[in-house]
Amino acid sequence: MTQTRTTQITGLAGDRREVAQEALDTLAGSLDGSVLYPDDDGFAEATLLWNGMIKKRPAVVVRAESTADVVAAVNFVRENQLELSIKGGGHNIAGLALSDGGITLDMSGMKGVEVDAKSRLARVGPGCTLGDVDRATQEHGLATTLGFVSATGVAGLTVGGGFGYLTRRFGWTVDDLEEVEVVTADGTARRASRTENEDLFWALRGGGGNFGVVTEFVFRLHEIGPEVTAGLIAWPASEADGVLDVYRRVAESAPPELTLVVLRRNAPPAPWVPEAYHGKPVIVVVACHSGSPEQAQEDLAPIKSHGEPLADLIQVKPYVAQQSMLDATQPKGMHYYWKSEFLPGVSDELFATFNQQFVDLEAPANQIVLFQVGGALNEHPEDDGSMGNREAAFACVIQAMWPGDSPGADANRAWVRNAWQALKPYSTGGNYVNFQTEDETDERTEESYRGNFERLGSVKATYDPSNLFRVNRNIRP
Ligand SMILES: Cc1cc2nc3c(=O)[nH]c(=O)nc-3n(C[C@H](O)[C@H](O)[C@H](O)COP(=O)(O)OP(=O)(O)OC[C@H]3O[C@@H](n4cnc5c(N)ncnc54)[C@H](O)[C@@H]3O)c2cc1C
Repeated sequence: MTQTRTTQITGLAGDRREVAQEALDTLAGSLDGSVLYPDDDGFAEATLLWNGMIKKRPAVVVRAESTADVVAAVNFVRENQLELSIKGGGHNIAGLALSDGGITLDMSGMKGVEVDAKSRLARVGPGCTLGDVDRATQEHGLATTLGFVSATGVAGLTVGGGFGYLTRRFGWTVDDLEEVEVVTADGTARRASRTENEDLFWALRGGGGNFGVVTEFVFRLHEIGPEVTAGLIAWPASEADGVLDVYRRVAESAPPELTLVVLRRNAPPAPWVPEAYHGKPVIVVVACHSGSPEQAQEDLAPIKSHGEPLADLIQVKPYVAQQSMLDATQPKGMHYYWKSEFLPGVSDELFATFNQQFVDLEAPANQIVLFQVGGALNEHPEDDGSMGNREAAFACVIQAMWPGDSPGADANRAWVRNAWQALKPYSTGGNYVNFQTEDETDERTEESYRGNFERLGSVKATYDPSNLFRVNRNIRP
């Protein structure tokens, strides 16, 4: 008797299901893309994540090349009751891109960016990184609001809300999202916008990968650069009080064109840091001013003239260069652990707490970052898109990073958790869903959405009643 060949794949209930090889081969034969197994060329690359701490490995990768491929994959997992994950840029810190033992839909083959400079819209494939989009739009002197590290995926960043140097001018990334094409759990490819499938569009503006697989994003663009006044400036940590004081004064009166980030860490052994300060505690301000160079010079003068900086790299430079300036600080494959909170503002008490976390900090690359957000995002009602958090003025992120083979994992995680507990009293009560780690609870997900959480559940019940899309910060129907 001949035995049917099967592949074991994790099912929706966490069970192990035997899936007939013939069915998988039929799926593969119907695709513009391909199906990959662990021994295949390309499998390792397709399952590589930014956070080396994540140890999940899918049984099968479907590499989508078209919307039809996504429809076929969604129908396949639904009919066979299999677990599915969606991988955009693979940068999610919790490793949400991979299903452990299930099927991972790798979207990296869908990378097109089409810019219509006249109507100021960009059609963006879900496999694009932020850098892909910034480079294409900047050819026309245009940009949409994207994040600080260019290798991050546009898809995951956008469905989780998104912020960056342009947030204070234009709001969350999803405030510039005009339309999407999305394949929902029933295998239908739908358009969604403010005037079509409005509730689905509302949910996708922050609700993560819960509602379907986005196969195209359409972003509104704005005139930016192509040069901005931007870079970083660093002082020894002994000057932290004075720097935080000037940071606060400038940030609180800054026009929307200016975004200021402040962080404390030990100095990296970078060429721009004087050698005597390598490994020594520093305080750094990262600035990006998208107004005129003259206005930027005036607005940044109090910061640039403050004390005796170790280095001042703030200059007129291409916007795309600023958008990738921090890339090297976040190398792929290191182990990462973060916590975040949105803050309604900064205060002396907050700064004192911020400073306290650095006493005797041994870890070479750990940092606490205060990203200035606010501005345009505060001008929308809380329920304009599911992202909410419209009272946020700063995002505080406590970040640890270490090589996987070093013994410091527990100490690093403990440092992050302790610093987070100390800073949490200053929170709006909201945190950024895209910065949540593997060990966050459902309560934390609910806190990300607060007043919008219940409505997200009802949109989920409409479009994904059996919770097919569950490898995410899950919203149950
Ligand atoms: C170094 C670094 C810097 C960052 N900086 C910023 C920043 O400046 N601003 C900011 O807002 N965020 C920032 N983030 C957070 C970032 O937005 C999230 O990590 C986001 O999940 C990354 O998207 P991705 O596509 O790379 O993720 P992936 O890990 O590929 O995907 C994460 C999840 O997004 C969902 N998803 C992905 N593709 C699709 C799709 N096509 N359709 C539906 N759902 C999908 C799925 O649930 C998926 O599991 C940063 C992250 C890192 C690691």
